[in-house]
Amino acid sequence: MKKINLIIYGATGSIGKSVLSIVRSNRTKFNVQGITCNNNYNKLIKIAKEFNVKKLGINKKIKNTVKDINKYNVYEDISSFSKIYNSNTDVIIFAISGLAGLDLFHKLCTSGKKIGMANKECIISLGENFYELAKKSGCIIVPLDSEHNSIFHLLNNDHASFDSITITATGGPFRTLPLKSFKNISIEQALSHPIWKMGKKISIDSATMVNKALEIIEAKYLFNLEDNQIDAIIHPQAILHAMVNYENGITKALLSKPDMRIPISSLFFKFNGYSNKTKELNLLEHSKLEFYPINTERYPAIRLGKEVMKIGGLAPNSFNYLNEILVRYFLKGAIKFVDIIALNEINLEKIFAKNSNIMTPSLIDIKNINGWIDKNLYLRD
Ligand code: NDP
Ligand code: MG
Repeated sequence: MKKINLIIYGATGSIGKSVLSIVRSNRTKFNVQGITCNNNYNKLIKIAKEFNVKKLGINKKIKNTVKDINKYNVYEDISSFSKIYNSNTDVIIFAISGLAGLDLFHKLCTSGKKIGMANKECIISLGENFYELAKKSGCIIVPLDSEHNSIFHLLNNDHASFDSITITATGGPFRTLPLKSFKNISIEQALSHPIWKMGKKISIDSATMVNKALEIIEAKYLFNLEDNQIDAIIHPQAILHAMVNYENGITKALLSKPDMRIPISSLFFKFNGYSNKTKELNLLEHSKLEFYPINTERYPAIRLGKEVMKIGGLAPNSFNYLNEILVRYFLKGAIKFVDIIALNEINLEKIFAKNSNIMTPSLIDIKNINGWIDKNLYLRD
């Protein structure tokens, strides 16, 4: 059988680890052509040795300074990462976090390749352009986020005949914390997700529920939905990931244990072609599956996210870009947890008071508005 030629952008991260764990248990089926990181090159070289990878992308100048580095084809700086894939590449995993890979992802959308897409931020920034771009080049975008991967399988390419879609959210670490305690939330508390073990940025986004707000917008762009066709509810156990609701009253849902290897494996194998016996779901062990509405006083990110989705154009990108900056400030201890959303909303108002919205923005329009945000960011005195 022909091996799957694989590139993993963001191989040193949490999603990268899950992808590599699947490759490790199916060694004969994969040829890992290339892997990348930001600056964690020691970990990258370790992965390269284990999986016999020849091409390394590192977003830093390191040639001649690191032992053994000359044994590899090294691509320094993220701007050269697009040279890592070639015509033989079968599947590309895009698991670089945040917007740093926006240009790269824009380029990949024109490649016509099969892309396992973990990163939601780039989809949200590109908005409707992304859908058109990917469709035109024949790219097959398989979302890896558990909710969107579930929708992808539930729809099974039938994007026309359903009523609405519901995704679930665990509610993060502060689902039951009294509202009056929110002002004292520490970085460590916000990083400790009850179910998923993830990178820092997405862990904070899960605590604020910006992650779910971004996922609602991501679903709109991935599946070409109307604003009123997508919503989210709380389901703390994270067993049911998404539901597709039909006009006749039928709802199809996808259930699995919360393990990112399950959605990722569906990129490579048929449902019955990947053995994950220990992960088989036994509902008798999960007799209590709970569902709650989202309280937007506790999670104002959901209200704000839906508002920017309705506005469209540059608004979702600006919401996401501001969030990325504000999460960095929070992780440095410079702003409070509750200010991540409060300052996002204040800055959004400022942006659109001074700039007009562009409904189908180009990559340059997106960069211009993000540059404006960098220069005019308002933080409380
Ligand atoms: P991590 O922080 O664990 O990993 C991020 C990866 O991207 C690392 O390989 C990192 O390299 C690389 N990277 C970060 N910044 C840059 C940069 N400026 N240039 C080049 N490479 C960079 O994140 P996750 O794996 O948790 O998440 C990745 C994406 O997947 C995110 O968009 C997230 O929203 C999404 N996602 C994650 C889920 C999860 O379970 N973790 C679930 C659903 C979606 P280095 O190690 O050198 O820093
Ligand atoms: Mg998710």
